[in-house]
Amino acid sequence: MDCIRIINLELYGNHGIFPEENSLGQKFLVSAWLYTDTRTAGLSDDIKDSIHYGEICHKIKDFMHEHTYKLIETVAEKMAEMLMIEYDKLQKISLEIKKPWAPIGLHLETVSISIERQRHRAHIALGSNLGDREAYLNKAIDALNDTKVCKIISVSDFIETEPYGGIDQAKFLNAVMEIQTLLEPQELLECIQKIENDAGRERPVRWGPRTLDLDILFYDDEIIDLPELQIPHPDLQNRGFVLEPLMALSPNLRHPLIKKTIRELYGELKSNN
Ligand code: AMP
Repeated sequence: MDCIRIINLELYGNHGIFPEENSLGQKFLVSAWLYTDTRTAGLSDDIKDSIHYGEICHKIKDFMHEHTYKLIETVAEKMAEMLMIEYDKLQKISLEIKKPWAPIGLHLETVSISIERQRHRAHIALGSNLGDREAYLNKAIDALNDTKVCKIISVSDFIETEPYGGIDQAKFLNAVMEIQTLLEPQELLECIQKIENDAGRERPVRWGPRTLDLDILFYDDEIIDLPELQIPHPDLQNRGFVLEPLMALSPNLRHPLIKKTIRELYGELKSNN
């Protein structure tokens, strides 16, 4: 991918674990690799189509002055997040924060932290069959967008479906949304579980009635098999209420384990029922 590089931007900051570092401050050098598609700007010769590196340098300077952290790990993490949230065109960022005057009682050329962060694409299924179902789904979408580290790309229509799993209960309202996220898979799981809990979600019966159910269907092409998290969602290929809205959003998305597209999986499910 194309990359705009800022190398060794020299700044003062007050980060460190020693109180003197926080009060006196010291020199930091920040390098940023800004991964973005520069093709449009390259052809238009218009700064609006690119990421303004001068503006980014000043954002980094302001960030260094407005915050005091103990660890350069935190400086890098929070700075990367701030830039990714503010600049949609930024697909990926590598940041290196150097601390050449690190007070360790020995001479060194510099010490630094280097991190790489990027946007991830995920699909999330939504369902509700208790209370104001539509309001619960809409609240979940808004709550995810409000986190800033998740951005809604598209939401399917809401469809009414029969309950799944053989329990006698009210009909569901289901949907699927596609998001971009800066969260790691387990952080995304924690995030959606908090949104479920805020919707008054209780889990007395498996597949039983619920105000809000959120499931991660896909996260990039990742395959995760942990006790608390399986991605792709292990049952998605058997669920019409998931495949139908997914069809509307991403019919050509390929299941990384089954190796079939959503269109193929949906076709197979329909022909088997
Ligand atoms: P449910 O009753 O469908 O909301 O299931 C919730 C449980 O499934 C939680 O304890 C999660 O840890 C677990 N789980 C495993 N994989 C996933 C996934 N891909 N998305 C959401 N929850 C998951």
